[in-house]
Amino acid sequence: MTATEQIIAQLRAARAKHPELAEHLDLHADLWAVEMPTSAGAPASKISAEEARARCVAGVPLLRPQEIPLDWTSLSRRFEQVCVIAARRRPDLAGPFGELLALAQAAPDRTKALLRQYLMVGEVETDEGGLTHQAELLAFVFGHTLRPALRACAEQLVPHLALELWQRDICPICGGAPDFAILNEQAGARYLVCSRCDTRWLYPRVKCPFCGASRPSDLSYYPTDDGRYRLYVCQACRRYLKAMDLRQAGAQELLVEAARVITVDLDVAARAEGYV
Ligand SMILES: [Zn+2]
Ligand SMILES: [Zn+2]
Repeated sequence: MTATEQIIAQLRAARAKHPELAEHLDLHADLWAVEMPTSAGAPASKISAEEARARCVAGVPLLRPQEIPLDWTSLSRRFEQVCVIAARRRPDLAGPFGELLALAQAAPDRTKALLRQYLMVGEVETDEGGLTHQAELLAFVFGHTLRPALRACAEQLVPHLALELWQRDICPICGGAPDFAILNEQAGARYLVCSRCDTRWLYPRVKCPFCGASRPSDLSYYPTDDGRYRLYVCQACRRYLKAMDLRQAGAQELLVEAARVITVDLDVAARAEGYV
């Protein structure tokens, strides 16, 4: 079974256990099902081991946004697929997803510029073209559009990383923000997981990766009843981070790509408390 097939199988298994999450799990299983290998170029060959080490020391991600090889033909096909799947699996949002697709088809250059901008700053910032109210949806579509290409790049570049030199709050490969964390099986060291390319990197346990706060009074976490997951929250910036504790029985069997989707109830709980 390939990694993608395993992720889909885990999402389907979770659906059987949690029918109340069917819509959400089906959406993500469908998005993984059309994950296609992309012609992402060979970024690794352009970075020498010395350059990779120098970038890690300097805190510069191995893949600068302007260096990410993007194949617009496959990206626009992927953009379309993501919109169509999202509209089908989220009938309540079918209208807005359909509008995004129509806008992208009517103004491909504008969409390309926004996608580049999303890569640079990690979010969609626009007040033009009627897209403002859809910025969050557009960021969702962009994230899933870019994922196969970024994962392919990460796979090639990870062996070049000097991870012990990198304990920063952004991804050492693509510069993306973390959206998940893993506590490892041995000492419970915390690794952050990139929201865009799924690369993992070591990060202090008592520090907020969003604002750098490290006073224990600002930071807390809530474990789930089975102990497998934690919700880290920061009072200084009001951000939250989900984590999976691999020291707990059964947690090791789950892939992080599936775990971050399956734990949607933690996102709901965090947002209900005002965390973002
Ligand atoms: Zn990344
Ligand atoms: Zn914070």
